[in-house]
Formats: sequence, C-alpha cells, structure tokens
Amino acid sequence: VTCPYSEPKCDANFAMNAKRCRCGRTLRTCDACASGNRAFANFCRACGQKLAAPKSNWTGYRGGARRLGFNPHDCGTGRLARQSTLILNLGNECRALLASDGHLIAVAHNGTIEIADVAAGKSICHFQVQGPVTAQPCIHHGTLYLAAAGQLSAYSLGALTQTQPRVRPAWTVALGGTPIHALTPAGDRLYVTVASSSWREIQVIDNLTRPAPRSVHGAMRTSWLASERSTVAFFSQNDGESMRLHLHDRELVTRDVALQQVPDHPIAFAGGTIFGVFGDERRLDRIDASTGSVDEALFEDTQFFAVSADDEWDRELVVIDSSGVFLTHTAMRDTFGPYDRAVKGSPLIVRNSAVVIGMEDGRVRVYSAAQFPRHEAWLVGGGATAITAIASFENYVVAGNRDGVVEVRELA
Ligand SMILES: [Zn+2]
Ligand SMILES: [Zn+2]
Repeated sequence: VTCPYSEPKCDANFAMNAKRCRCGRTLRTCDACASGNRAFANFCRACGQKLAAPKSNWTGYRGGARRLGFNPHDCGTGRLARQSTLILNLGNECRALLASDGHLIAVAHNGTIEIADVAAGKSICHFQVQGPVTAQPCIHHGTLYLAAAGQLSAYSLGALTQTQPRVRPAWTVALGGTPIHALTPAGDRLYVTVASSSWREIQVIDNLTRPAPRSVHGAMRTSWLASERSTVAFFSQNDGESMRLHLHDRELVTRDVALQQVPDHPIAFAGGTIFGVFGDERRLDRIDASTGSVDEALFEDTQFFAVSADDEWDRELVVIDSSGVFLTHTAMRDTFGPYDRAVKGSPLIVRNSAVVIGMEDGRVRVYSAAQFPRHEAWLVGGGATAITAIASFENYVVAGNRDGVVEVRELA
C-alpha cells in the first residue's frame, strides 16, 4: 500500500475503511479493492472502479439532493464536545454550508468562499465570486456548483489535496434570470430553477463537461427540486389550474395532484415517495411519486421537517410546528418559549444521536435522540445574530450566522 498523497514519510498503513491515511489526510476507500484514494477522487487509482462518495458527506441544501435533513453517520451520543473544532469568519452572512471528504465549504451571500480541512482545524483555501449567491450550491462528483449573479459556475475540487490547495474553475454559463432554491444533481445531470418576474423555469444541464442549459418546464409557481438516483421531482401550478407533479429523468412525466398550493418549504424525496407541506393548514403529506396520490396525510401546522431514511423511509420524522418540536417515533415534544423561533434549514437528524435546530436568537439546539427532549444550546461565535445555515457531516455539526461566523462542533 502506498500513500495516495505520496507523502515521503507516510507508511500508508491504514485500516480497512479508515477515513484518514497515516499521514492524517482524508481517504476515499475503494469498495472493490479497499485501496485508499485521495479526497474527491472519482475513480480508484488501483483498480479503476468508480468510487462512491462517502455517505456522511453534506453535499447540498438539507444534506443533498433528497433534502432529507439527515446525516446517516451514527455518532452514538448526542452530546456536544466542549471545545469548538474550527471557527471561520466570512465577513458576510453565511448562505450555505457543504462538506465533502473531510473538507468544509462555507459560502457567504456576497460570494466569499472559505474551504477548511476540518480535522486539521484550519482554513486551507479562500476565494471570491461575484455575488449575491441566490441559490443553494451543491457538490457532485468532486465538483462544486455555484449559482450567483445570474450565472452557474463549476469548480473542480480535486486540487484541494495538493500542497498548495486550490479550486480549479471549470466553466461558467449564463442562466437568463435569477437562480433560486437549490442546485439539484440527478444521475449525471444538474438542475437549476431560474426565476424572472412572474415565471419560473426548471433548466437541466445534460452534459456537465460541456454545459448547455435547456428548459425542462416553465410555470408561474414551482416548488423546490428534490432528486433520488437519476429522477428529479417538483410541483408546479399556473393561475386557475390544478397543481401538478413532474418527474424528470430522460423525459418529463406529469401527473395532476389533488392538493392546493405549491409548497414553499423544500420537498424531500425518499424511497419513491415525496414529502411536502401543502395548503392553508400546512399539512405534511407523503405522496406516491409514481401516481401523484396522497399516500399519507401526516401532520397539520408543519413549519419544518426532517426525514430519516436510507433507501427507504424508516418511519421516523422530526417536525417543528408553531408550538415546538417533536419526534414521531417517541411522540415526545419540546414546547418552545414565546420568543423561540427555528430558522429555515432546520431541523437536522444525526442518526440515532441528535436532532439539531438553528434558532433566530443565534443559538443552535442539539437534542439528544436517546434522552429527548433533553438538549444543549450553543451560541455560535458568542454572537446573537440569527443562524442562517446549518449542516452535519461525519460526527460534526456546523452552523453559520448572519454576521458570517461559522463554527464547527463535534458530537463526542
Ligand atoms: Zn499518507
Ligand atoms: Zn479499487
């Protein structure tokens, strides 16, 4: 075994499924031959097999294209470590947090981007794009996709593992409007919602090395996008028409849905069913993606929710309503005080360990899954401005606030 980074003093004697090489650098282990590869590598250097991205990466808004708000890494305990692992200062409102292969990517509203090696506890790369960042970015196959100022750009992350860490700009395309919601990969394609004054268009890029966005569907109102494997799903509606559900893979399949109002909360896609908040009663419904019919009417008065799922939904949800938060499998509830407000992007589930909620008062609540509703509260950066982004990857929880302070804590 040789060190994938060719570190001269590294004996590369890492255990099976180790996350780090002996030299301390991040590994991507091959499922086929167990060789260790560099972070962000797409193919195994020993056998050429395609490498799967680590499951506990946080590759897009609410964790990734399924938008579950779920980190599948079981940390055992839901207790926060005393010391913060890392603090970054973006100098402008934190808009998005992504994590891949041990690297954290923090994106500010004005286009400032900071990339840190989390285990090393330091920032390794910093760059600036033209803001404002109006859509949530994503990472797909080792590339960062970022939509800002009417453009979509791709940055290759592989060069972050070099002695002089950096990102390589690959391409930029104009979108003809304002990118909104969240960039959504599905299979080898990438989807983006583009808004103009009274119209929204879902565009797809079929070939990510030669980008040529084309329209898939347009409507007056469209929901957020969510995808599972190679299928992307969204709802749309025009004035005076019923709402419709669209699935796009190679072609667009459309069904009428007997519900009112396109949801403004992100939808989630798990095990062939779609979760969304519909209507004036804000009811959380589970919809069969293949028929468009409501499989299950779950909870009214839903503000935010998170879904625990591997391939299939495991029947566990966390729901925030106007009086507090509850876990469906325990039926336990924590009632919020009159001034407690959860922020968008909440809640998150860390498998068997914790439920994480960003609050408007600048705190992050970390509930212990085993001892719910017991929780700890952590004030990000010691400031008192609202949490604007949260994420969880491996055994870390990270939150950023309106001042641009980003803090990483470990669940230990
Ligand atoms: Zn090494
Ligand atoms: Zn291999």
